[in-house]
Amino acid sequence: MLYSKLFGKTSKTITRDAVIASHRLLVQGGFIRQLSTGRYTMLPLGLKVSKKIEEIIRKEVEKTGAQELIVPTLHPIELWQQANRDKKFGSSMMRVVDRNGSEFTLSATAEVVMLDLVKQFAPSYKDLPINIFQFSQKFRDEARPSGGLLRVKEFVMKDGYSFDIDETEHKKIYKAYWKAYEDIAKKLDLSITIVESDNGAIGGTISHEFMVETNVGEDTIVKCSCGYAANLERAVFVKEPVILDETEKELKEVEAVRGTTMEDGVKLHGLPLNLQIKDVMYVDEKGRFILAVIRGDYMVNETKLKNLVQSIELRHATEEEITDILHSVPGFISPVGIKQNVDSKHELIIAADDSLRTVKNCYGGSNKKNIDLLNVNMGRDYKPDFEGDIAAVVEGNICGSCKKEKLQLTKAVEFGNIFNIGFAYSNPMDGNYVDKDGNLKKIYMGSYGIGIGRALASVVETHHDDKGIIWPKSIAPYQVHLIGIDLFDESIRKQVADLYQNLLDSNIDVLFDDRLDVMPGAKFADADLIGIPIRLVLSKRSLSNGGVEIKNRSEKESKVIPFESVLEYLTNQ
Ligand SMILES: [Zn+2]
Repeated sequence: MLYSKLFGKTSKTITRDAVIASHRLLVQGGFIRQLSTGRYTMLPLGLKVSKKIEEIIRKEVEKTGAQELIVPTLHPIELWQQANRDKKFGSSMMRVVDRNGSEFTLSATAEVVMLDLVKQFAPSYKDLPINIFQFSQKFRDEARPSGGLLRVKEFVMKDGYSFDIDETEHKKIYKAYWKAYEDIAKKLDLSITIVESDNGAIGGTISHEFMVETNVGEDTIVKCSCGYAANLERAVFVKEPVILDETEKELKEVEAVRGTTMEDGVKLHGLPLNLQIKDVMYVDEKGRFILAVIRGDYMVNETKLKNLVQSIELRHATEEEITDILHSVPGFISPVGIKQNVDSKHELIIAADDSLRTVKNCYGGSNKKNIDLLNVNMGRDYKPDFEGDIAAVVEGNICGSCKKEKLQLTKAVEFGNIFNIGFAYSNPMDGNYVDKDGNLKKIYMGSYGIGIGRALASVVETHHDDKGIIWPKSIAPYQVHLIGIDLFDESIRKQVADLYQNLLDSNIDVLFDDRLDVMPGAKFADADLIGIPIRLVLSKRSLSNGGVEIKNRSEKESKVIPFESVLEYLTNQ
């Protein structure tokens, strides 16, 4: 490719929102251009890289036995409604209406459509497993798209789906995908950490995320030196017991003229923070009030809470709701007796963190202004509707796995995920197969995703210097960046054109900077910015030094090799 003819040139200007390296370098290098917030055009250079990533993914995913197909982008809304997915995705789902008034969603993921497709073939146990995948455009109306290709509203994803007779069989494909993802990451030169994760909007039970550690990541992963790794929503830590041998004392009301913070309670009573009950009142998408209670020294993790109480969205209750509907007082909420104050039109659920089992004789509000309760004990004074782990992990907590080492928190980007979906879709959608005895059984599902743009951005995030991108050979847009200098000299112009033709004839993918009106310094800067692994320079100087100057993008030093040896040198690379 002649650089003079390439559509999409390098650019010096940076938009103000391009705060992270991959965003800035991909725009400046001429790989991507923004259309509107969170929507990017892949320019020819960017698309070349994307296609190479796709090809690596395709090869590895096919080793799991998966077959490629493609389903439409517009999904009838009824399919999503059958599995309640429209509610789970909520406002991040894009909707369109056709001329007949039929409603569709723009594919955010394709579990329901793939299951519907499999159902049409009425599979028997002999037809399973079915393992299929596609590359297609996905749409998610993210509230806060950011970081260039890292969080977007529209992107190409490889999404795979498996359909099995049971969990044991499912695990074989899950493991094969696990290996495929590790191999894909290796080929992209990405170092990954595999973490247990929360299934979120996809549904199901246990899943794993393949994370690339980088300080621009929006996700946080929790790691321990024992090898334990999980994402923030799933990570567990040891909740150290506090004076558990004490007997339960009598519940007491005391006057408490204080402010509304946890510190105000500590100051007034002279008791430790970890004996105070922290109360956080939420409202979920069904209008249920959810009172989360937790030991005073811990914080509530809202995703853990959502999973425990089976809510999709949570918001904090307003002061008016707390006073007018729950008849409590902000800053003085208590699980003790609060349910009796709520009329039958409203539902209130108490969700307790299991850390409240590690304390006795706690203190906190009473649902009355300036009155606190002492010696509050869970089980005796209040009974939670749900009890489990809803506590947020912080740096330095003791690992829940080895129960010895301290947990570390690291920023990361999710590169891929594998989901054990189970019956989350086949139950509501009647996704059945016929077993050996002719009975209908539910299909066991898995799903497997990798976003191409995010993988591309993750590579740039971990492969660049202050001058530009340093592509791994496996996905570089071109193998060789050939620069011609002194092109006004006819003999040089001819030599470099010959070299370019020789490279093409030898099937070497080459970008040739043939521009006449650009200074050498600018050509070198562009080459560094674009980041092709090998740079060849042919100039008066290189010829007088004995041939063609060759330099790896990842190295500082260049060397000169004879004109005739260039091809041999490159093919041995
Ligand atoms: Zn550990």
